[in-house]
Amino acid sequence: MVKIGVLALQGAVQEHVKSLKAPDAEIVIVKRVDQLDDLDGLVFPGGESTTMRRLVDKYDFFEPLQTFAQAKKPIFGTCAGLILMANHIVHETTGHLQMVNMDVERNAFGRQRESFETQLSVKGVGEDVEAVFIRAPLIKNVGEDVDVLATYDGEIVAACQGHLLACSFHPELTDDTRFHQYFVQMVRESKETADDTMAVT
Ligand code: GLN
Repeated sequence: MVKIGVLALQGAVQEHVKSLKAPDAEIVIVKRVDQLDDLDGLVFPGGESTTMRRLVDKYDFFEPLQTFAQAKKPIFGTCAGLILMANHIVHETTGHLQMVNMDVERNAFGRQRESFETQLSVKGVGEDVEAVFIRAPLIKNVGEDVDVLATYDGEIVAACQGHLLACSFHPELTDDTRFHQYFVQMVRESKETADDTMAVT
């Protein structure tokens, strides 16, 4: 059994809960820091990244979230969640939680294409993955340790750095649960590795 939380400070939470469902997964809505303690994985939903950051600070989540990532527990950020994870945000002086070696540009599609839906090939996840983009960011640069999982029009829209997974779009707003189930599998594998390590020490 794995326990996965969805950070519920702001944004679409229930949709993630639905997409994460699996027989061996308990999904919890996270509103307090102490709930992080027994989680095996965590999702940062979409919404508005500056508001989300303000709430992270207000409810003292900043350090506990960094500790969570340092413990190598998987985190999946979508859209604003991806922005929270980036080391650097274009035109801004600092990133927020600075977990993933990537530069992101907010609202990168401009007004003409604020929202649209498409299908993408996502490495490890599958072909024709349904993707909803809403005032989405783009990943403009990634470090050597970051794996590009998907591109759209030649630009990076999904990436993975070890246990950290991020995408510009909203897979939770479709019935296609493959991206979330890929994350659930990452959490299972990470938990197995952690359990094995505990058994040895
Ligand atoms: N544009 C938003 C931001 O910068 C992200 C949009 C979203 O999460 N759908 O935070």
